[in-house]
Amino acid sequence: MPKIYFIDVTNRDGVQTAKLGLSKLEKTLINIYLNEIGVFQSEFGFPTTKHESLYLQANLELAEMGVLQPIHLGGWIRAIVGDVETAFKLVPDIRHLNLSISTSAQMIDGKFQGRKTRDDIIRDMVEAVDTARSLGAETIGVNAEDASRTDLDFLIKFGLAAKEHGADRLRYCDTLGYDNPFTIYEATKTLAENTGMAIEIHCHGDLGMAVANSIAGTKGAIDGGQDAYINTTVNGIGERAGNADLVATILAVTKSKGFADKYKSGRPIDLSKAWKIAKFASYAFGVPIPMNQPGVGANAFAHSSGIHADGVLKDPENYELYGFEELGRGEPEFVETGREIIAGQYSGISGFCHVMGKMEVSFANREEANELLELVRYANVESQKPLVEDELLFIAKYPQIARKLLTLKPLE
Ligand SMILES: [Zn+2]
Repeated sequence: MPKIYFIDVTNRDGVQTAKLGLSKLEKTLINIYLNEIGVFQSEFGFPTTKHESLYLQANLELAEMGVLQPIHLGGWIRAIVGDVETAFKLVPDIRHLNLSISTSAQMIDGKFQGRKTRDDIIRDMVEAVDTARSLGAETIGVNAEDASRTDLDFLIKFGLAAKEHGADRLRYCDTLGYDNPFTIYEATKTLAENTGMAIEIHCHGDLGMAVANSIAGTKGAIDGGQDAYINTTVNGIGERAGNADLVATILAVTKSKGFADKYKSGRPIDLSKAWKIAKFASYAFGVPIPMNQPGVGANAFAHSSGIHADGVLKDPENYELYGFEELGRGEPEFVETGREIIAGQYSGISGFCHVMGKMEVSFANREEANELLELVRYANVESQKPLVEDELLFIAKYPQIARKLLTLKPLE
């Protein structure tokens, strides 16, 4: 039986959202948390974008060191030869890529405006796949942008050409959130049956159906005989109305009526990290978690009406579909209500040692403390908000990697 895998695109689709962004250290922590949850691949950034180069290389080093294992770190670029060449020039160690090109008549007419035909789309894509393979890519996904408004026969042709040239997965992008569960099921099933390729399902929430469409598309791919790779973002952060929320999608796959009996994850999922990653992404993006968000919202396990409160006290299963402990909730959280010492861009050594001492981090000597403090100052310059414990601990544990992440200079 084919399996379900998660490809989280927070560090790509999430950060290209208008008005939002993440520091390179924040992106790195997201990768670490995604790995802990059991996500198959993090689409960790843009290898043709110069200010990403050192961040991407540093994260590939973390993979090499075993810190970011077994998660795949995949870059997103356009499916054109020039972009593939630039990606390998700027990020030589990149091994996993998704190559994206628009496939719909709307985009070919409305965006390329006569500069590209359908044959050009396929030619550009296969040349990009060939180049990526020759430069050392180990896995390649080809993304059909606006797939939901693309003629299915053309998508099959596109997928078969990609497969013939060695691509591993076909990403079905519902770029505008136009599909519904019924249409996406038919589309992904047809694509799986006719291309024999693993299908990625990339859904947006413009009609409020990103999660529903993701599991319907998954069912389609698996019923069509292929593995399904669901694209998600943490807290659903993504362009316009956002993407399929990671935690909600995992819950839908594992808890919805009868689904998990037949459709299973290819990697073990550790939902107990859900609370941590949702809270961190909320803080890092500066976007509060809606109180009614599945699993991690403030009201997800709150009861006040008499009948519900009585029922849940007698047996939680009366009014809760899953337990808060499963999502890593329920532990008391320490909130400082008195004096606070914070490590920031203008901190000195005494305050910094106090902050680190509270986390039981000590230093061999003053020199080492000063070196780490300098990194913390730079991290704060980039994020412009107090660093969380895990960021401080990361810097203390991997100062050389942190130094690379924090080096932002215009490259030649
Ligand atoms: Zn998208």
